[in-house]
Amino acid sequence: MDRKENAIRECFSLEEAVIYACGESVSIDKKQSVHGGDANEAYKLFLSNGEILFLKRNTVSNADFFRAEAEGIAAIKLAGKIRVPTVYARGTDAGHSFVLMEYIESGRRQEDFWEQLGAGLAAMHKADTAPYLERGKYGFDRDNYIGAGYQKNTPMDSWTGFFSECRLRPQFILAEKYFDSSVVRAADRLLDNIDRYLYEPDKPSLLHGDLWGGNFMSDENGSPVLIDPAAYVGCNEADIAMTELFGGFDRRFYESYFDSMGVVPGYEERRELYNLYHLTNHLNLFGRTYLPSVVRIIKRFSV
Ligand code: ADP
Repeated sequence: MDRKENAIRECFSLEEAVIYACGESVSIDKKQSVHGGDANEAYKLFLSNGEILFLKRNTVSNADFFRAEAEGIAAIKLAGKIRVPTVYARGTDAGHSFVLMEYIESGRRQEDFWEQLGAGLAAMHKADTAPYLERGKYGFDRDNYIGAGYQKNTPMDSWTGFFSECRLRPQFILAEKYFDSSVVRAADRLLDNIDRYLYEPDKPSLLHGDLWGGNFMSDENGSPVLIDPAAYVGCNEADIAMTELFGGFDRRFYESYFDSMGVVPGYEERRELYNLYHLTNHLNLFGRTYLPSVVRIIKRFSV
């Protein structure tokens, strides 16, 4: 990745980060809590020069989450197809880790908000992935996180190999305590036969990686902004599958996305297999509620 173009400063105090973002004599006048996130404390920062920034904070032991988030946002920004907040700095400060970024003022969605989101995502999925990885490979230049789960991104030549070895297998290993021996065998069969169910895309796509309804916003103009990615280079269908995991986006999103990208026959079948990754991650993070869905999908794809 072109790190000079996307220089996110590592800072050792919030004051230093604010000065890096806004200039020498600028300081924080007021902090206001922002609700809605599920992992971090979030604040709207009012600065002495009248500017407003967005701060997310966690414990020092979670500093790597913000490193990963900042790199993912920078990757999407570099593609230049859909808005993300500009990230200025990340680092640690008096017992906390933090990331400091542009504050996005929420506005009422434009009439064609969903079309913009669909077309913007399609454009991002069509963009050249050479800025992130050797052209044609799948993965990312660093591992990152999917929610609180660790996400392995070892670059590989094969998408199906990547999805099996860096996505499903690590989650299956973590979930083994929930699986009886028939499920373990079915999971092994699924991994051995992944090529029967998934295909190698014509070309790789930069993915948001965690595209559910809580990870986009509407900006001051009513246009979409992506937040909180778990970015990597993969098959575009994995991003679309996730949008459908918890109820789905508006119909206009899919129409505009598939108008631009085209549909590869069999997507509805593959969708479940892609979402098996997220469901198994949920099983590992939040417990047994997700077990029946995970077992059903494993068995479905292991015959
Ligand atoms: P978490 O990492 O804890 O899940 P999020 O990134 O989802 O936190 O952010 C929490 C909430 O803050 C979001 O639901 C959104 O409403 C708001 N938010 C996120 N990023 C920004 C931003 N750059 N500017 C303004 N508000 C934001």
